[in-house]
Parts: sequence; structure tokens; C-alpha cells
Amino acid sequence: KLSKRLETVVSFIPKGSKLADIGSDHAYLPCYAYLNGYITTAVAGEVADGPLRSAKQQVTKTGLNDIISVRKGDGLAVIEPNEVDCITIAGMGGTLIAHILEAGKNKLEGVKRLILQPNVGAHIVRQWLISNDWELIAERILEEDGQIYEVLVAEKGDGTKPYDHLEAELLVGPFLCKERNNIFLKKWRNEVNHWKRIVAQLKEKATTPESVAKKQELERKIQLVEEALS
Ligand code: SAM
Repeated sequence: KLSKRLETVVSFIPKGSKLADIGSDHAYLPCYAYLNGYITTAVAGEVADGPLRSAKQQVTKTGLNDIISVRKGDGLAVIEPNEVDCITIAGMGGTLIAHILEAGKNKLEGVKRLILQPNVGAHIVRQWLISNDWELIAERILEEDGQIYEVLVAEKGDGTKPYDHLEAELLVGPFLCKERNNIFLKKWRNEVNHWKRIVAQLKEKATTPESVAKKQELERKIQLVEEALS
């Protein structure tokens, strides 16, 4: 059985897609997506040998060697332009996801949908989408095994489209902010409390320009999130 996190990612794959799952690890996502009728073919990309081996084993065990091509490489280097029309990147930090997209820009031709699940730093992914004219079309937030995850879905279009209050919504997500469900409120209440504790510590011993700047940055984020929650 697939995790709720990866199941949520898969639920946004358009039926009949040619998928690339980057950083696929055990290749559970493309195997599940095929077996449940979402995709016709997939590339499972992995940069590391251990995960590459488990991806190959899983694909063989599932009998999908003709459907899922497991390839070793960094980010989008494993695909050709126009080879796939949907890309999933899950279970990494937002900085790494944005870096993979930026480094592989020339491979995004023909790609209609990106489904991205940053473990942290979703705002960095949202910023990359805005800067590169990918329109955020949906977001989900979910909790599993005590962790809260965000899933961002984008299609080529107007990068700034769903945003009303850019600075705050970059941080918390324009769709998630409007939906404002209990998991969203829990996540951001926890974050704000965490930031407030750090600010209190910095107030005691903030002497360097860096720590003063850090304190100001956190105070700004607290203000933005509190406005978004209120
Ligand atoms: N996508 C799976 C999931 O969400 O369950 C696996 C997540 S795992 C925590 C992250 C995987 O990304 C690791 O297997 C790692 O080797 C791979 N990875 C990290 N950087 C990568 C890159 N630049 N290109 C391809 N894979 C990468």
C-alpha cells in the first residue's frame, strides 16, 4: 500500500500521462501510478546507487520493466525533451526541487504538469514557479505519521495568477490559505511558536548584524503568517 503522501501526489497525474518521477528511490510511485491506470509509461530517475538498485528491483518484481525505465542521473538529465508530459518530484527539500527544475529547464519542453512535494521550503518552489511562468493550479496539505506534507501542482501559464497577497501566500500557499483547514492551522501555529522562541533567544543575545537580520526576518514571517491565519 502506498503512503497517503505519495497517493496524494499520484491523484494529480492526468490519466494517460507519460511520467518522469525524479528521485524515485524505491519507484513505488510510478509502479502504483501504472497499476492504477494513471500512466502509460514512466521514467524513474535516481542519482544515488542504493535507491537506483531498489527502484530496479521494485520495477522487476512488479513485472513493469517494459513500462518503467529506471535511469541513473542528476535531476532531469535522465529525460529527453518532449519525452514525458508530467513530472513528479517528491520527498525532498524545496531548495533541491527548485534546483532540479532550474538545472533541467531545457527538459521541460512538452511537460504539461508538475507535481511537487517539498518536505520543507515550499515557498522556494512557489517562487521558482512564479519566476518561470508555471501557474500553481492546486495545493494539498496532509498529515501522516506525525508529519505534515504539502503537494503543489502547476501547469504552464501565468506564474502570478493565484496570488492575492504575494508575500504571505508565497509562504503559506494561496490555495491552502483560502482552504485554511485544520492541518494548515496546526502547521502554521507550530511554525509561529517555533519562530517566536527563536526570536526570544535572539533578543537575549542578538549582537551581530547577522543575528539582528535573522530576528527581523523571523518577525516579518511571524507577522505575515499571523495575518494569514487571522
Ligand atoms: N520520491 C520518493 C518519495 O517521495 O518517497 C523518494 C524520496 S527520497 C527521501 C529522495 C530521493 O531523491 C533519494 O533517493 C535521493 O537519492 C534522490 N535524489 C536526491 N537528489 C537527486 C537529484 N539531483 N536527482 C535525482 N535524484 C535525487
